[in-house]
Amino acid sequence: MNTVYNFCAGPAMLPQPVMRKAQEEFINWQGLGCSVMEISHRSKPFIALADAAERNLRELLSIPQHYSVLFMHGGGRGQFSAVPLNLAEATEHADYLVTGAWSKSAVQEAERFVTPNIVAESCVINGETTLPDQASWQCSDNAAYFHFCTNETVDGVELNVLPDVGDVPLVADMSSTILSRPLDIEKYGVIYAGAQKNIGPSGLSVVIIRNDLLDRARHNTPSVLNYGLAAQNGSMYNTPPTYAWYLAGLVFEWLKEEGGVSAIYSRNKAKAAMLYEGIDATDFYINSIASPYRSIMNVPFQLADPTLDDAFLTQAEENGLMALKGHRSVGGMRASIYNAMPIEGVKALVDFMKEFERKNG
Ligand SMILES: *Cc1c(COP(=O)(O)O)cnc(C)c1O
Repeated sequence: MNTVYNFCAGPAMLPQPVMRKAQEEFINWQGLGCSVMEISHRSKPFIALADAAERNLRELLSIPQHYSVLFMHGGGRGQFSAVPLNLAEATEHADYLVTGAWSKSAVQEAERFVTPNIVAESCVINGETTLPDQASWQCSDNAAYFHFCTNETVDGVELNVLPDVGDVPLVADMSSTILSRPLDIEKYGVIYAGAQKNIGPSGLSVVIIRNDLLDRARHNTPSVLNYGLAAQNGSMYNTPPTYAWYLAGLVFEWLKEEGGVSAIYSRNKAKAAMLYEGIDATDFYINSIASPYRSIMNVPFQLADPTLDDAFLTQAEENGLMALKGHRSVGGMRASIYNAMPIEGVKALVDFMKEFERKNG
């Protein structure tokens, strides 16, 4: 098999050593003579696996004891409903910062359950996507929580500074950035992430929640979305996505072996710098996100001449560079360079981009 680098935004590539280990133990896990996906979630070996995964995640992100870690169903979007149902009454206001497609979707879902207030929206100034100064944000007086998306997977917009919202619990959609950089967990009320970008397979979502927020769910919250119920039951109120949990556990082990979150952050910064340098070095390629907001996980870029898009994508695939087509709402290209993408993959992409420009520029 030729080397293929998969730049898919999600479900995204997983680390090679994780996939190999999963393959090795696929039909005979821990000598049990069957797969980990064929055993009870309440069995001793599975509980041990589940505990180890949580312990490793806690260690990787330095999650304090007064926070719970939940392994839930329903991916990222499931949390768009879970957040208002668990944290606000129907009559309450909730603040939402809109920085791109995903935070906009979160607002749309929240409208079913609360009155979302959009405090500010990203905008284009002098051709660059940026965010209005925080002094101009229109926050509610008594918001039940403040929701934002730390990394907009579609738009390639990442926030490096935390909104300053006083005592209002900060709720962060970290689906495409969790574990890519160190975090100060205590700044947040709730962090959630669909797993399929930096954690494991799709369907699973990981929730990190401050314990005092666990008992606020309104009475008609569906049980499978209820944070308190999930916490009381060790994330096993109903059958959890066991195989996804297992793979997430392998990814956490891998990340620890790679040196943890600060080591991967250095690597992620180097990968992103290499790619943005390649884009900025020429007018042939364009990324129009203002530099403080450029994502280190998802790098969208346009060809100045979009009639070359198809040729670019076809030739990229011929060179083993997969899934570079941009989101349909943005067009152009997007390279997702999550934790699992090795620096060699980014180098191969930048080399290909130079060569493509040489032939077509
Ligand atoms: C992928 C993604 C989601 C949605 O995840 P699903 O599992 O498809 O529901 C939500 N938010 C962000 C930031 C994402 O990248």
